[in-house]
Order: sequence, then structure tokens, then C-alpha cells
Amino acid sequence: MSAEIIDGKKLAESIKNEIKTAITEREEKSLPLPGLATILVGNDPASRTYVASKIKTTADLGIRSFSYDLDENCPQEELENLILRLNEDPDVQGILVQLPLPGHLSEDEVLHTISPKKDVDGIHPFNAGLLSRKYSEPLFYPCTPSGVIRMIQSVCPDISGMNAAVIGRSSIVGMPTAMMLSRCNATPTICHSYTKHLDEICRESDIIVAAAGSPGLVQGDWVKPGAIVIDVGINHIPDKNGPRGYKLVGDVDFESAVKRAGAISPVPGGVGPMTIAMLMANTLKAIDYR
Ligand code: NAD
Repeated sequence: MSAEIIDGKKLAESIKNEIKTAITEREEKSLPLPGLATILVGNDPASRTYVASKIKTTADLGIRSFSYDLDENCPQEELENLILRLNEDPDVQGILVQLPLPGHLSEDEVLHTISPKKDVDGIHPFNAGLLSRKYSEPLFYPCTPSGVIRMIQSVCPDISGMNAAVIGRSSIVGMPTAMMLSRCNATPTICHSYTKHLDEICRESDIIVAAAGSPGLVQGDWVKPGAIVIDVGINHIPDKNGPRGYKLVGDVDFESAVKRAGAISPVPGGVGPMTIAMLMANTLKAIDYR
């Protein structure tokens, strides 16, 4: 039996269509339109591609876009001053700083500088703190984890009581995903590079979210029959025959996992498009915090 494929691209399209409709309605009523500022520092090719894709999507949806392209050697102060200016700019509802930043910059200090009301990535410590508290709601849920949850719920709306293995504990993906799964009444196990018997933890899980950045880490025989498998990983591996000389693969060995999973997301065409759709949803939501 082969798993249902969770088509992130299709799901993202339907979310973007809803956002576009909401923006068109605002336009018709002459209400202010949302604006997203993107800040790119340096020349990392992957970051450049991600930012370009986000800017294109804002244009497609009618979201105003303000892009800032800073030099690789940009001083911390210059970046923080730009963010402080954008915090005060009434045309900008969302501020996105593309990570990772060049090594001389403190990501933590940069993230602290963004106003939590404009933190459309949902990773400011204020919003991360609210996410971890039982009776509070963050102003924004982080984009990739939100996409992961939407994908899981597209095949299983109620995940109460399910066991979930989350592989990776980063502040932007693994940890908030585990918290959001817990908010949906699933029981997450947070796994990382020191975790022992990762394969066994996965075999006991009804849901696997792989966010390690390790190509093909999750093997088919790690997957409990019928489990939901969400592959967050984006890895560039050499591909001599491909036009670009590399190809994108996830953290899951798709060929073997698809035979055992109940539902599985592909790479590419899975979590990536959903992350952008959730960023746009957060930017629209940011209008409420003006
Ligand atoms: P990160 O490097 O910050 O964190 C990786 C985590 O995985 C760490 O907690 C580490 O302990 C754990 N890990 C690494 N190897 C492991 C192993 N062999 N076994 C168990 N745990 C292991 O990375 P990140 O920013 O969280 O991103 C993770 C992956 O997701 C990357 O491939 C990244 O490109 C991808 N990503 C995709 C999207 C998207 O939109 N699809 C968004 C963000 C990140």
C-alpha cells in the first residue's frame, strides 16, 4: 500500500487564495493593505532564493513589499537601526529578517529588536514565550510549524492522544512544532542529535516530523504502518545528471517511507510552500495589531 501524498503546494494555494480574497475585499473597502518588509543580509544563494520567492508571493497576493538588501559586512548597529525604523513605519505590518545571518551578527539581538507586533515569523522571544504558556496565545504562530500542523490536520483533523516524534529542537522549527502538537493534544517526543534509539521512538509514533537537516535520516522501517510523516528537511545533494548539478531531498527516505506511511509530505512541494503561505497569513493578521 502506498501513502496518501500531502500536497503542500496545493494546500498552500488554497490558503493563498483565501488571503488574496481578503486583501481584495480590503482594497474594495479602501482599507489599509498589509505590508511586509524583508531584510536580506549577505549573499547566501539559498537565502536569496527564499527571499525572492517571498517577495514574489507578496506581489501575487496584493501585499505591499519593502525589501532591504544589506551588505555581507553590515554592522549589527546598521541592521538594528533599520529594524527600529521599520518598527515605527505605519506602512509596514510585518518584518522578516532572513536567517541565517552572517557569523559576525548576533541573531538573538536582531530578533529581540523586532517589535513582537510585527514578528510575522513568530520567533521573537515574547511570542515564543506565549506559545509555551498554557492559557496564552502568541501574537503570531511561527510559520514552518504552523504549516506542519495544517498539513497534519489536512489528513487527520483530530490528533488528540497521538504520539509524535519531532526530530530537531531548533527555535524556529523543532521546538515550536512540538509545542504546537502539544496544544493539539498530541504527545510529542523532542528528539535531537543526542537522542538514543531514534528509530525506536519513531516506530512508536503516529506522527513523525523530521526537521534535522540530515538527508534520508528517517528510513522506511522506522515508520509505524499508517503514520503521518511530515518532512521539513531541505538538503541539497549532488546530482550529476540534473540541470542544476544538485537536487533537493528531505530528511526522510521517501521511496521506502511512502510504502509504510498513511500519509507523507514530499520534498520539494511539501512544507516549503506552506511556510510561505503561513508567512502571508501572518502578515494579513498583523493588520489587526496596527
Ligand atoms: P537546525 O540546524 O537549527 O536544527 C537541526 C536540529 O536537528 C538540531 O536540534 C539537531 O540536534 C537535530 N539533528 C541533527 N541531526 C540529527 C540526527 N541525526 N538525529 C537527530 N537529531 C538531529 O535546523 P533548522 O533550522 O531547524 O532546520 C532543519 C531542517 O529544516 C533543515 O534542513 C532546514 O533547511 C529545513 N527547513 C525547512 C523549512 C521549510 O520551509 N521547508 C523551514 C526551515 C527549515
